[in-house]
Amino acid sequence: MSGKEKKEFRTEVKKVLDIVINSLYTERDIFLRELVSNSADALEKMRHQELVSEEGEVFDRHVPLEISIDCDKKGKKLTITDTGIGMTAAELENNLGTIAYSGSRAFLENLAESGKKEDLSLIGQFGVGFYSAFMVAAKVTVQSRSWRRDEEGHQWESDGVADYTISPCPGIRRGTRIIIELKEGEEKYADPLTIKRIIKQYSAFVPFPIKVDGETVNTVQAIWTRSPSEISEEEHRDFYRYLGNVGGEPITRLHFTTDAPLAIHALLYVPGENLERFGLGRMDPGVSLYCRKVLIDQHSKHLLPEWLRFLKGVVDSEDLPLNISRQALQDNLLVGKIRRIITSRFIKHLKELGEKEPGTYKKVWESFGVFFKEGVASDPAWENDLAALLRFESSATEPGELTSLADYVSRMKEDQKEIFFIGGASREDIEKGPYLEVFRKKGFEVLYTTEPIDDFVLSRLGEYDGRKITSCERADIGIEAGDGEGKEAMAEDEVKSLAAWLKETLGDRVGEVRASKRLVDSPAILVNPTGFMTAGMERIMRASQPEEGGGFSRRDLEINPAHDIIRGLDRFRRKDEDLAGIMAGQLLDAAMIQAGIPVQGRDMVERSLELIEKVVRGLGV
Ligand code: ADP
Repeated sequence: MSGKEKKEFRTEVKKVLDIVINSLYTERDIFLRELVSNSADALEKMRHQELVSEEGEVFDRHVPLEISIDCDKKGKKLTITDTGIGMTAAELENNLGTIAYSGSRAFLENLAESGKKEDLSLIGQFGVGFYSAFMVAAKVTVQSRSWRRDEEGHQWESDGVADYTISPCPGIRRGTRIIIELKEGEEKYADPLTIKRIIKQYSAFVPFPIKVDGETVNTVQAIWTRSPSEISEEEHRDFYRYLGNVGGEPITRLHFTTDAPLAIHALLYVPGENLERFGLGRMDPGVSLYCRKVLIDQHSKHLLPEWLRFLKGVVDSEDLPLNISRQALQDNLLVGKIRRIITSRFIKHLKELGEKEPGTYKKVWESFGVFFKEGVASDPAWENDLAALLRFESSATEPGELTSLADYVSRMKEDQKEIFFIGGASREDIEKGPYLEVFRKKGFEVLYTTEPIDDFVLSRLGEYDGRKITSCERADIGIEAGDGEGKEAMAEDEVKSLAAWLKETLGDRVGEVRASKRLVDSPAILVNPTGFMTAGMERIMRASQPEEGGGFSRRDLEINPAHDIIRGLDRFRRKDEDLAGIMAGQLLDAAMIQAGIPVQGRDMVERSLELIEKVVRGLGV
């Protein structure tokens, strides 16, 4: 080629350019991502060429592989230069003119279908990302020199309206230079601060140096694509800092690569802090999706289940189409597969951490256990896997120490068939209450559920390792304390008569009243005959009903016939039935408080004052 050749764009390309040029699309920054991603591809190909070519074949062989961006504020120009494989005259024409026509047609069809003429975010997906430069350019000049030794440099120029020219451009180095003469109103793209910001946002991990006015801006490399053993702690620290904006050190990290069925690089960090705990509201997801080191979706909402939103990191999959749009990610089958692989690897990682480094896992649990509980309660796909991550205090742990369900099961007594739990405001409350008595006697361990969500989590699981998970509040636990250690119990018909009297006296406040087989030291206990919802769960569900019982399902009252209070009450009711009735009311109040069910404070106060009055008068003082 000797002179300047002028060529017209195909109709479809013209239409695309028309849309791009006249678009009011506001996310114009993406043009730089597209151009840098093209440069990165060209450099990637060059790296490969260097590996497979003979020494003499490659032009400018020892030129470093990099991208330089120059901002000319005065001249309102932005120049992007790479030392990649470059393009011959024919390639310039094909890649930036002719071939683009099929991609253009597909892109136009897609715009027409979606009815979103303004949404240009998809442009890269159709192999016409280069044209996005015309969102900000009045004119684009591409100078390119192929890596092939006997080619020459050429220049492609266009204002993006109807045609382009190609002409010789001798004496240039290998690679491609794109000179953008900015449109009026787009001068900010000649400002190095703007450019640096965009590079940091979209292309920080392009695995080649990106220099803006000579200064390398992507100091952090795409470390996730390297072998885990090659990465130093310092590199991890820098990368984590870049990702997180959270400061501090991650508690643990997971870095893995898969080849089949999908090619994935994943590098995930568990941060040191749970920011939601500081009342900062619901966190946004912290893992970004890359495709071949190019950012596809920052802080992706589609990549991982919601309950993993606390993770920071990067997932890179070569199998995704580069520049797949964010909308398309949502129901992309590949993304679904990636999500499953990563979620299951992450759970496995934590499970192993729990076994090998329980202290480290405890830190994860203390900050983020609440997310795993959320996962069990809301995500049936993972509830069983997540069960391995749960931890609770129990009657077998020291205060503040935790057990897993697996460890609980390993300690189960031979005649113990189920896993038991009981809720309460604190360990002390639980241990002072009546629910543990029979389990203590039998030597059965009981999990303590002290967080409001815990009972939902365990009820949701229903079982673990083939064992049912059962609340100690249930009426039908089927475990008996046995003989009351020498204490003389009441005769059966006496108990029946007392129970009938109690039911009559307490009326609707209780379901059935009967002798208990589970009490040892306490006079009475409320148990749940339906067994479905625990008091803790009902408290959450009925928080809007503050009156007595607050819509709680009715509990049965069980009494301990060997207990002095019960025997005394039975004798006393024959002497002074009114006073005995007040006592019965107080007995029920006590059982309700121990069960975590709200009592009617006014009534309780009245009854206790009446009691005091009678006692004081009876004493004759
Ligand atoms: P895509 O990159 O999706 O194929 P583009 O419109 O961005 O679509 O680019 C079209 C083609 O132009 C690319 O496939 C590539 O062959 C060529 N190209 C673009 N930029 C460069 C560059 N900096 N160096 C070498 N080739 C390039």
